[in-house]
Amino acid sequence: MSEENWGNLPPCPFNKDIRADQSKTGSWRSIRPEINQGKCLKCGLCVTFCPEGVAEIIDRVLNIDYDYCKGCGICAEECPSHAIKMVSEVA
Ligand code: SF4
Ligand code: SF4
Repeated sequence: MSEENWGNLPPCPFNKDIRADQSKTGSWRSIRPEINQGKCLKCGLCVTFCPEGVAEIIDRVLNIDYDYCKGCGICAEECPSHAIKMVSEVA
C-alpha cells in the first residue's frame, strides 16, 4: 500500500512547475453558468466580477471560457438582468 502524502496530490495547483493555463480547471466544476444572450445587457458587470477572468464580451456577445470557469456563480449573482443561470453539469 502506498503512503499518502502531498506527493500523491494531483499536479495543479500544488505543483509550482506547472502553469495555471496548463491545467483545465473547468473540470472542477459541478454547476455551470448558462447565458441567456437575449436578456444580456452587455453591461460587463459579470466580466468585472469573475474571479477567474474567463468572461468577456466579444462583438457584443458574452462569452465564458468553460475550460477554466470554476462555476462559482458570482457572475449570475451580480448580473442585474438575471441573464445567467447556474445549471448542473450532471445530466
Ligand atoms: S452582468 Fe448580465 S447583463 Fe451584464 S454583461 Fe453579464 S450577463 Fe450580460
Ligand atoms: S461561474 Fe465564476 S468562474 Fe465561471 S464565469 Fe461565472 S464568475 Fe467566472
